[in-house]
Amino acid sequence: MIPLFSASAVNAGIDLEGAAQRVLRSHWYVLGEEVKAFEREFAQYTGTTECVSLANGTDALELALRALGVTTGDRVACVANAGFYGSTAIHAVGATPVYVDIQPETQNMAADSLAYALERKPKAVIVTHLYGQMADIDVLKRLTHDAGAKLIEDCAQAHGAMRDGRRVGSFGDIACFSFYPTKNLGAIGDGGAVTCDDAALADRVRTLRQYGWSAKYHVGTPGGRNSRLDELQAAVLRAKLPHLDAGNRQRRAIAARYNAAFQGLPIGLPPSIGDDYVGHLYVVRCKEREAFRAHLSAQGVSTDVHYPVPDHLQAAYPAVSAAGSLDASEAASREVVTLPCFPGLADADVAAVVAAVGSFFNR
Ligand SMILES: *Cc1c(COP(=O)(O)O)cnc(C)c1O
Repeated sequence: MIPLFSASAVNAGIDLEGAAQRVLRSHWYVLGEEVKAFEREFAQYTGTTECVSLANGTDALELALRALGVTTGDRVACVANAGFYGSTAIHAVGATPVYVDIQPETQNMAADSLAYALERKPKAVIVTHLYGQMADIDVLKRLTHDAGAKLIEDCAQAHGAMRDGRRVGSFGDIACFSFYPTKNLGAIGDGGAVTCDDAALADRVRTLRQYGWSAKYHVGTPGGRNSRLDELQAAVLRAKLPHLDAGNRQRRAIAARYNAAFQGLPIGLPPSIGDDYVGHLYVVRCKEREAFRAHLSAQGVSTDVHYPVPDHLQAAYPAVSAAGSLDASEAASREVVTLPCFPGLADADVAAVVAAVGSFFNR
């Protein structure tokens, strides 16, 4: 079976054992030199002055909201097709999501739908760069700031994506990353971070990640908790960061091969294979999704659906607020299918995926 992701393929040739050994020999496990160095290196990579590492990407979203002052009763605008991570964070701070529809081609937030949502005066907007494809961030940012709201980028699927020489994570008032093992920059466990250019804002996140302490055992800020990246993960991420751009190029090359091979088939394809797409997930749209997936599975190709249930239809939160119709988000949730695309995926496997997809439509 061709997998959707392979940690052994992605990590091949990277000295993770050396990184781990450094931490084991230091006998220092939490908030030490590796974390400090990683934060410096990742801020520099992203093009920001600040990086605060955290326990995971969902915490990054939650602590970003808290640090921006979002609290009980506030509204936060976000899309409904991005796996509920933003919604989880919004609910965690006691705020209410206002769902915004997507552009069908890019499957990222639609500007006209955001403009409508901003009439409800959300305190913040979370823009997700879904599947590794950068959103229309300049336009969304201008609309958000003109309405007096704060912009949070969710870059958990888009590490390294850039437009006009500027990387994701440097556009928002604050940006959130996950280093879950399958992400384009993945640890060997959970991890996350925020980046920004605002030292005071970064300091608030630093306080919140450690119990709200102003000094050891002195709680100066409410809403704190424990959300720290550990030294082992930081050391592994430092070993992997120099390989991120090469990995993204490999993902893009696989996506370009797929796009060329699938031209003319009755499926929707990723719209751009430029620097603004880092191939986190190669997602096509197929009207006969279940038959398509069954065929691929029988041909030895793994697939998945990112994501089958839009946020506003999740069972746990029946009372939701949408800004207008979410038709494009709902249509996407019925049609999206993810195909294997990761660094180290063998050429022969890419060819086998191409053949399996072609044989479904020639059957
Ligand atoms: C993975 C992911 C997250 C959450 O990250 P975790 O580290 O798993 O908490 C948030 N947003 C998006 C878009 C993601 O893909």
